[in-house]
Amino acid sequence: MVSSHRVFHGRRLLVLLSLLLSLGFFATTLGSYLVSKEVIREAILGRELPLASSNIYVELQKDLVQPVVISSTMAHDTFLRDWVLRGERDVSEMNRYLMEVKTRHGAFSSFFVSDRSLNYYTGGGVLKKISPTEPRDAWYYRVRNLRETYEINVDPDLANQDAMTIFINYRVFDFDGNYLGATGIGLTMEAMHSRIKGYQQRYQRTIYFVNDQGQVVLRGQDAASQAADLHTRPGLRDIIDQILQARGGAYQYEAGDTNHLLNVHYIPELKWYLFVEKDESEALVKIRNTLYLNLGVCLAITLVVLMLTNLSLSRYQRRLEDMASTDKLTGMLNRHAFTILMDKLMADCARTPRPLSILMIDLDHFKRVNDQHGHAAGDQVLCLVAGILQQSLRKSDVPVRWGGEEFLVVLDNCALDEARLIAEKIRERIAQAHLDVDEKTVAMEASVGVSQLRPDEALDQAIQRADGGLYQAKQGGRNQVGVA
Ligand code: GH3
Ligand code: MG
Ligand code: MG
Repeated sequence: MVSSHRVFHGRRLLVLLSLLLSLGFFATTLGSYLVSKEVIREAILGRELPLASSNIYVELQKDLVQPVVISSTMAHDTFLRDWVLRGERDVSEMNRYLMEVKTRHGAFSSFFVSDRSLNYYTGGGVLKKISPTEPRDAWYYRVRNLRETYEINVDPDLANQDAMTIFINYRVFDFDGNYLGATGIGLTMEAMHSRIKGYQQRYQRTIYFVNDQGQVVLRGQDAASQAADLHTRPGLRDIIDQILQARGGAYQYEAGDTNHLLNVHYIPELKWYLFVEKDESEALVKIRNTLYLNLGVCLAITLVVLMLTNLSLSRYQRRLEDMASTDKLTGMLNRHAFTILMDKLMADCARTPRPLSILMIDLDHFKRVNDQHGHAAGDQVLCLVAGILQQSLRKSDVPVRWGGEEFLVVLDNCALDEARLIAEKIRERIAQAHLDVDEKTVAMEASVGVSQLRPDEALDQAIQRADGGLYQAKQGGRNQVGVA
């Protein structure tokens, strides 16, 4: 009863401990994960993306500077200006010039539009005449009235099957400062595509350009599968108008069960928005792995602690059981109780000297009893023998369950001869006892060793001699009494 109560307490302690440990571990690991997640998100939104964005912006400007320089050189070329002032007579001369510029600088197209004749010259000849009523020529009239010396414009190129082209439109003046027309080169978008792909790889971000209608106008090739109109993109469609209005800033949106972190930068030269984006889950892979690792470690620690606690609990329990004074099966004193009792008895004997004898009783072929009739029957035999001992002894004698099927009896105030008689009586009673299990009679016999404590020896030595007597009895054929 006592021990089962203890087991119950032990189990409750284990449950409580595991609850506490896992709760504590979970809370701290999860807490630190959430905090680092927030820190990472803030770092991406607040620093990384804006930095990447402005780096790309700077690089882009650099990439656009060279075409502007080339266009500027064209606008200040004395041949070009002289040729216009001479009356635009030999068109092939202008063709050759424009073709030369185009091939030498690897430009997509090169052009000159004369303000006097309204001819649009390219490397291939006169493309067409500019007209103020033609919407596609609006750019020319815009450049004509421009305050700055040039503009960067994105338009389809008539000279190249309407391919989207970045044009540098540079204003040309004669030597007296009179307006002559516009010249410059066009950059292929293909070149820009691969440049953006380069940025994407370098910065590990998704990069694309968006016009003021919310259409993606330029991106690295690999993102080509997505819809061009951001008003139709899940997640983005809800904030795109706000982004376009604000002309930049940091944003987050959910799409495809990941959180996207976005930085937008307006590029006035192109009238485009630069979108630099990062998939948050990619950034969180590392700390998520750390989270799993931490949880694993916590689980392992919890398990180890529980195992150790369980181990020491059961060891403690075993010690408690050892410390209990009676044997559970027979109700007899156990060995532990015996040692305590004996110290007292020996002290008593020293005060009032008297003979003490020891019986060591061991059941014969007890293994056989277990094997033939089962362990429960064996237990019954042990209880029976315990009863016989109790009946055969005086009140002052101390019977002890010494081991499995071994019993020790201390006969107080009893000399060897009398002890031998008692031993004989016990042996006989055991041999005559009857136990029926499953309608079969269980045969039982015991051998007994006898010794008397000598005045000059310790109790252990007397016990050892009784053991010796027992050995002799076994050697002599069992079911008998042996005297050391
Ligand atoms: P021997 O005559 O030489 O003493 O033979 P034995 O079979 O008694 O030999 P041994 O001392 O080696 O075997 C003792 C057996 O007693 C082995 C063990 O399984 C059994 N035993 C020990 N304690 C208990 C118990 O509490 N209940 C039961 N049923 N069997 C026990
Ligand atoms: Mg034995
Ligand atoms: Mg035995």
